[in-house]
Amino acid sequence: MELTAIKGIGPKTKEALNKNNIYSVKDLIEYFPSYYEFFELGLKPGKCSVIATVAQVPKISFFKRNLSAMTFKVTVENQLINVVIYNRNYLLNNLIIGKEIVIQGNYDKRLVASNIYFSYEPIKPHYKVKDVPQNTFRKYIKEVSKYSYMVEETLSEKTLSKYKLLPIYELLKLVHNPKTKEDVKQIYRRIKYEEFLKYQLQLKKLKQMKKIDGIKIPIMDINAYTKELPFELTNDQKEAIKKILLDLNEEESMNRLLQGDVGSGKTIVSIIAMLNTYLAGYQAVLMAPTEILAEQHYKKLKELLPNERVVLLTSNNKSTEILETIKTETALIVGTHALFQKDVEYKNLGLIVTDEQHRFGVDQRKKLIEKGLRPNVLSMSATPIPRTLAISLFGDIDVSSIKEMPKGRKSIKTEVIKFKELQDVVNHINKEIDEGRQVYVVAPMIEESDSVNAVNIQQSFEFFESRLHGKVATLHGKMKKDEKESIMSKFTQNKISCLISTTVIEVGVDVPNASIMIILNADRFGLSQLHQLRGRVGRGSAQSYCYLVSDSKNELTIERLDVLTKTTDGFKISEEDLRLRGPGDFLGSRQSGIPAFTYGDVFKDFKILDVARIDAEEIVYNIKEPKNEVYKNYLDKVLGGLYD
Ligand code: ADP
Ligand code: MG
Repeated sequence: MELTAIKGIGPKTKEALNKNNIYSVKDLIEYFPSYYEFFELGLKPGKCSVIATVAQVPKISFFKRNLSAMTFKVTVENQLINVVIYNRNYLLNNLIIGKEIVIQGNYDKRLVASNIYFSYEPIKPHYKVKDVPQNTFRKYIKEVSKYSYMVEETLSEKTLSKYKLLPIYELLKLVHNPKTKEDVKQIYRRIKYEEFLKYQLQLKKLKQMKKIDGIKIPIMDINAYTKELPFELTNDQKEAIKKILLDLNEEESMNRLLQGDVGSGKTIVSIIAMLNTYLAGYQAVLMAPTEILAEQHYKKLKELLPNERVVLLTSNNKSTEILETIKTETALIVGTHALFQKDVEYKNLGLIVTDEQHRFGVDQRKKLIEKGLRPNVLSMSATPIPRTLAISLFGDIDVSSIKEMPKGRKSIKTEVIKFKELQDVVNHINKEIDEGRQVYVVAPMIEESDSVNAVNIQQSFEFFESRLHGKVATLHGKMKKDEKESIMSKFTQNKISCLISTTVIEVGVDVPNASIMIILNADRFGLSQLHQLRGRVGRGSAQSYCYLVSDSKNELTIERLDVLTKTTDGFKISEEDLRLRGPGDFLGSRQSGIPAFTYGDVFKDFKILDVARIDAEEIVYNIKEPKNEVYKNYLDKVLGGLYD
């Protein structure tokens, strides 16, 4: 059904809805609230909602140019109280003496109203929509709700009855208009389970397909290379390499997660695995999340293996020649997401390594299988995920952990300071620069329109440029590729002493000579992210320092930042992050290495995730049975005829 068939939706609104990926009435019905607001009635100091009766005609007073206040008296629970509401003159005609209204606001002697409603809804759904006001959107939703019966069930009868989940028509009725907390509970129970089940179904199906054939890679003699390394590998690194090579030598494809804190030396482990693959006559691919990181890995590979075929492929570094090499030669290939675009064809792809993996999930694996590939996968992550969770998320994954840091590392001295103390830090930086060391300054990305008082790259540049002894340069995501590259390579060669950047350097950047990290407005980052940023220093044998700059007076914020001054253990830090910010936020931070779910929370809802995993296994095994038809249809649709 067309959107414009609905009352109140014209071409303009249709366009706005399209921007939110809503193209049909069905899309609109299935557009779930992002959260529910609960109103508990009762007059109490602070935030509250009350049912009140208007007891006086409101008076309007104007002050300044466009500020007005409306004041009036109401009775609430037999008390007469004063109400004030700002800039809402249009409500005047509806505030008739004797009328019952719902006021939401802040109570302290008088009630400062933030909202006035004319009917009481105990639970209010909120929708995440662009360009359409909430209230208007709710009207459309109400309008289309009557068509809910047209939406087909997406879970099997067996599933519904096994867990007593809401059937789709009841779900669609309730989801936009729940009356009780129990309703909300049931809504979430169904949509979380469904979300996890669908993810697991894809995972299991892909795994089943993958099992058909893997590539068995012989173990080659790599001693000649490891001998040439400028350092001795740690025992954990050696152990991880051994496991990976044995895994690659199995018939079944490898699916392994390599965990290790920032700076623990994961890269070299993956390079050796790639080298082994390459020497055995197969291609090996390393995928990085950013262009800067891809570039860095490319250089490192060329440096370590000057006589081998190494190519770089990013959306900015793409040519027919590069594509031709990848299609026809055994090579070591480094790149970004561009590696898995349609036009890239591989020859004998044996191993895929993903660095700082975030999203190498079902989607990418699907793309590979579409290319007819079933390669071994090694994912590297600096965020420790418990093994049980990893299994539920990634399938039957094997995990290698590097716990031991390379020898000679000193722990990074970390301090939380105020902006006015930066002057003292400048002296410290100059001392380090005089000794030939380098500095990072990170400022949060600030949009022009951002009213929050935070310093940006340009301001920081001016501040440091005028005070530091060495050369200062800036780096940010919006710069052209050539510019970024030239700045990064100058920094690597110590032709730049101080690099001021946004978080583009957050993951993976490796310049061991850098010894100071300054993070401005540190309160704007998550703990795990700060830990990642700090991990850019302390990569050599010199003592390194980290200054977290913040003027925040919020106690929780200060407590959070303080965690970093006390520990450099990434595992502890992510636990604290979880405790202090709640799982929702934790998952929001890009370091999580965990696939993003819209409704389910892999920590809080772990049980549901795990049940869905077990169910999916059974379903996929019996996918041809009539009772599983809905799931077969679903898999056919999302995996698009990849099997059978
Ligand atoms: P991460 O695990 O954060 O990706 P990297 O792989 O970038 O860490 O390694 C951090 C730094 O440590 C690099 O400069 C790397 O060359 C160095 N390194 C790796 N392994 C060792 C080792 N065994 N001994 C000394 N330095 C090492
Ligand atoms: Mg790394």
